[in-house]
Amino acid sequence: MKALAVLPLVLPLLLAAGCATPERVSPTPREIGFQALAEDVRIRHEPGGEDYARRVGASLAAAIRRVEALHGLPFRAAPVVHVCHDWPCFRRLVRTPDVAAAVVPDNLLVLSPSLHGRGAHRLDAILAHELSHLHLGQRLGHYTPSLPIWFHEGLATLAALGGGAEYASDIESCRAWNEGRQIDFDVRESHSRRLKGPDYGLSIHEFYRQAWRSVEALRAHDPRAFRSWLQALQASADFHIAFADAYNSDLDSLARVFFNAGPVCDDHGGAL
Ligand SMILES: [Zn+2]
Repeated sequence: MKALAVLPLVLPLLLAAGCATPERVSPTPREIGFQALAEDVRIRHEPGGEDYARRVGASLAAAIRRVEALHGLPFRAAPVVHVCHDWPCFRRLVRTPDVAAAVVPDNLLVLSPSLHGRGAHRLDAILAHELSHLHLGQRLGHYTPSLPIWFHEGLATLAALGGGAEYASDIESCRAWNEGRQIDFDVRESHSRRLKGPDYGLSIHEFYRQAWRSVEALRAHDPRAFRSWLQALQASADFHIAFADAYNSDLDSLARVFFNAGPVCDDHGGAL
């Protein structure tokens, strides 16, 4: 447990990551007392949270466009965003500690008060990040293990133009890679076996950074293949077979090229 004296310094870092979470929701949004924003019923807020909700409303259309453009498909249903303007609300819905926002089971997208406070500048990015999770969740089920966590987070961070991975640099991410702390791109996950950063010896920030840069590099390497792969995944194709069909290569070999003296890391341990 961290001492209270260091908490103010630690908090901004801990609040870095937006994330989908597998934990169960206890109360329902109705029990929390959310109300629909008068100007936009897709946004639900607690009584007194109207100003925060209006800020979310001003960002929502652009974030939806960004996610739909990346994923290549529209949302199956209109996204609904739950805005918590106090921490008890957020902590009742999101059991994962130290996140600024989350999508929890039942595809409930919840924003924390941090994005209306000291993290207000991150709202646009984190909203897009969470909407990417929601978009996949609507088609494949919440945080489906048919896609590895590194891919969920890499895609969401790409939709957010880096949002969720701001607190590790490319240099730190590449240093970890060169030390052998690497995402396993060949991993298969299941409901009982989900692999996050610590499973690879990575901090959550290094994990998000490696995940983001790998997905970004895969898209840059062959945009047409990337679109084809994403379309297949969203039609429930097997993750690795769909990749091989789209890229005519196996994922692990290709992704490793991008880190081993490729477009992500140079051969001296720095970032290009
Ligand atoms: Zn996430």
